[in-house]
Amino acid sequence: MTDTAHGLGAGGPAAGSPGAGAEDEAVQARGKLKLAFFWAAACGGCDVAVLDIHEKILDVAALADIYLWPVAMDFKYKDVEALPDRFLDVAFYNGAVRNSEQEHMAHLLRRKAKTLVAFGSCACFGGIPSLANLFDREEILDWVYGGTFSTENPAGVRPQPRFTAPEGELTLPEFYAGAYRLQDFVPVDYFLPGCPPTPEWILKAVEAIASGNLPPRGAVLALDKTVCDTCPREKTDKKVKEFHRHYEIIPDPERCLLEQGLICMGPATRGGCGALCPSANMPCRGCYGPTREVVDQGAKMLSAVASILDSDDEEEIRLALARIEDPAGTFWRFGMAASLLGGRAFDAGSAPPDRAASATPPAGAGATPPTRAGADVAARGGKK
Ligand code: SF4
Ligand code: SF4
Repeated sequence: MTDTAHGLGAGGPAAGSPGAGAEDEAVQARGKLKLAFFWAAACGGCDVAVLDIHEKILDVAALADIYLWPVAMDFKYKDVEALPDRFLDVAFYNGAVRNSEQEHMAHLLRRKAKTLVAFGSCACFGGIPSLANLFDREEILDWVYGGTFSTENPAGVRPQPRFTAPEGELTLPEFYAGAYRLQDFVPVDYFLPGCPPTPEWILKAVEAIASGNLPPRGAVLALDKTVCDTCPREKTDKKVKEFHRHYEIIPDPERCLLEQGLICMGPATRGGCGALCPSANMPCRGCYGPTREVVDQGAKMLSAVASILDSDDEEEIRLALARIEDPAGTFWRFGMAASLLGGRAFDAGSAPPDRAASATPPAGAGATPPTRAGADVAARGGKK
């Protein structure tokens, strides 16, 4: 652990570099790392990100053996269940938890792995899948199994968790009321945000785990400063009269995008990506989630928008804000499950029980931050 208070050092040794000697020695002493990757309510981008490390995947192969990776190799849950507890060194879990199968895998991997990493913004904060928390379960099922133009379902058939066929009972995972974070179910050791995490941070994480040179458990493996703090664009405290969609203007490549009227989430977003989007003349989308001090990323961004708007006139302000398309999807795009809003799924009183708070962490597992679901359950006097 080197430069940041809350993440891996930016200067961690790359495999094959002079500093990689410690990892080589650690690998020789311990044998190769045993890794697992799992995808839950995910788009697949996080798995592709692992492949995006290109030829460095050979370094990972030198450091580790992979025991589970559904997107890349065949496996059976019973093979994982048969592994001794704490057999795996690290499990990387990507995607939100939206159904009972994904919850089962969260518990299973927590039991089988010494270290569990929430990999990507969906596992860390609920991600884009948790925007569905703005709708309740029945609305979603009505739409998917009846509402879309391409659905033909005159009998209104819905998936059933259990169905008895002549061959025996068939089961499907239960579709939960909302999409949740991994930490809403099990204690999580490290959080690797990003949509998806950048190859640089994936490598740093694997190398740090291999060498044992890790930050305290519970840490977010990214910087503890904002994207704005790492963005090279010129900031002048200029106020704006109106906001634009990014296709409506060609922004000045040197000046702050927010000061040009584009909703750039940099002020409310944790750095670590290298300000990739602003560097490509695109506003930050907020995928690294909030920094440690920020309670709610969307609320923080609303406050930044309010402070940059150059008007005291109520109607002018209303018109300027009306230009922001899809405010919930813009300000809470990656973190509805972690937000104070939560979404209707939580309002319906259907959050899962606070399993993380009640679960006994395996030996060596660190503290887990308070859970959204836990807070909801507590607010309802312990009722689920
Ligand atoms: S974090 Fe982004 S890339 Fe990863 S599964 Fe979620 S939506 Fe896909
Ligand atoms: S608001 Fe966006 S463009 Fe402006 S400094 Fe922050 S990250 Fe850079």
